[in-house]
Amino acid sequence: MVLRLSSTMRRLGIITNPAAVTPTLISSTASFARNLNLPSPLRNHHLTSSICFLKSRSLLSSFSSFSSSSAAYLPSLDEFASTKGSVRARDDNKKVVLKGMSYASLQEWVESHGFRPGQAMMLWKRLYKDNIWAQDVDQLEGLNKDFKRMIGEHAEFGALSFKDVRSASDGTRKILFTLDDGLVIETVVIPCDRGRTTVCVSSQVGCAMNCQFCYTGRMGLKRNLTAAEIVEQAVYARRLLSHEVGSITNVVFMGMGEPFHNIENVIKAANIMVDENGLHFSPRKVTVSTSGLVPQLKRFLRECNCALAVSLNATTDEVRNWIMPINRKYKLSLLLETLREELSSMHKYKVLFEYVMLAGVNDRMEDARRLVELVQGIPCKINLIQFNPHSGSQFIPTDEDKMIKFRNVLAEGGCTVLMRFSRGNDQMAACGQLGMLGATQAPVMRVPEQFRTALKASV
Ligand code: SAH
Ligand code: SF4
Repeated sequence: MVLRLSSTMRRLGIITNPAAVTPTLISSTASFARNLNLPSPLRNHHLTSSICFLKSRSLLSSFSSFSSSSAAYLPSLDEFASTKGSVRARDDNKKVVLKGMSYASLQEWVESHGFRPGQAMMLWKRLYKDNIWAQDVDQLEGLNKDFKRMIGEHAEFGALSFKDVRSASDGTRKILFTLDDGLVIETVVIPCDRGRTTVCVSSQVGCAMNCQFCYTGRMGLKRNLTAAEIVEQAVYARRLLSHEVGSITNVVFMGMGEPFHNIENVIKAANIMVDENGLHFSPRKVTVSTSGLVPQLKRFLRECNCALAVSLNATTDEVRNWIMPINRKYKLSLLLETLREELSSMHKYKVLFEYVMLAGVNDRMEDARRLVELVQGIPCKINLIQFNPHSGSQFIPTDEDKMIKFRNVLAEGGCTVLMRFSRGNDQMAACGQLGMLGATQAPVMRVPEQFRTALKASV
């Protein structure tokens, strides 16, 4: 296999010394394929058809550290399997983490310690409601002393440690949190006009999906976030910024990570966020965005009544296979057919399609016409997103005039279209700009022949 890969790469003029195609590269590519859970023929294809396109020696050298660190780079998700049961005890002190529990679990836990269910409700409200957002036992005003003592002994309030907050010139704030294991995640708060403020939460540290236009994707996956770590982002954003930006009304799961790769914890967190005695976000205003993991998408639509966004970003499998490798597993036709079928039995439910516009790649008028055809029969809105550049990205944004022309073709075809321009760009707080690259980075995919000229313009 090493020889087959090395000969392909030599053919591409990437590497001349077969010894340079070490198990390093093989293992990084293999673990990437494993992590996406690609079917085995696809994994083989992945390994043997030079999907790894090493652009330069420097990138190659960044791969050299993969052999030793590939396990850390793309670990098996089993290691981070979502919290089993309703209570997660931290290994160090065996305390439960309150924000990882649904109300039903909290009540069960409170009762198991000999207290009344009414006290569980009082605790729940102090965690999530009435601008209290309690961070420790001293903030549980009005609760019984024994109950407070028990909470102090057996429960943990925080799941995140605040690290920093950065403000972009357009008012967007990026909050950085350190996790118990030292990893860092980012949460973005986006004030909008008309009294709407959105918090954009992360669901994983990094992401395994390796979308070629996304900075987070280049990090690879470090680990899943727990439900508590997800919920706490929204609570903390409210606590830290409500007085500055007003009430935070909307949540989007569009930060770091692929939410459906961590479906268990994401559904749990979303359900906690919409609880009417707690944070009480309207389910219509909590949107989970996915790159298109079809089985999890079906599960989400059945188990959660929050809104769904799907990142489409291409109108052909050829382009989508390249810029969103998950498409090799779940093709456009399967993704769209699943949505058509699932949404047909849902009342007044619309999916939001996101479409990041990449100059010369997916922004031709024929793409617009094809997009109109692809979404026929699917109750939807389409959000055209300006590409947010980041260091080392090979793409360039479509200019605004062209975005408008593209929008017009969609609108004439009967689609409801919105346009989203960059927010928080100057603090790397915009879509697809979150995270921090380490020594190792996800593989850069081979650029299909016909797009090389378009990309060259960006180098
Ligand atoms: N993983 C999920 C949610 C996080 S990404 C998903 O992919 O849907 C949130 C959105 O940001 C997605 O629609 C994605 O296509 C978009 N995005 C990623 N990188 C981007 C970039 N550099 N510029 C603009 N949008 C980007
Ligand atoms: Fe992951 Fe979404 Fe970025 Fe793709 S766009 S790499 S799925 S975070």
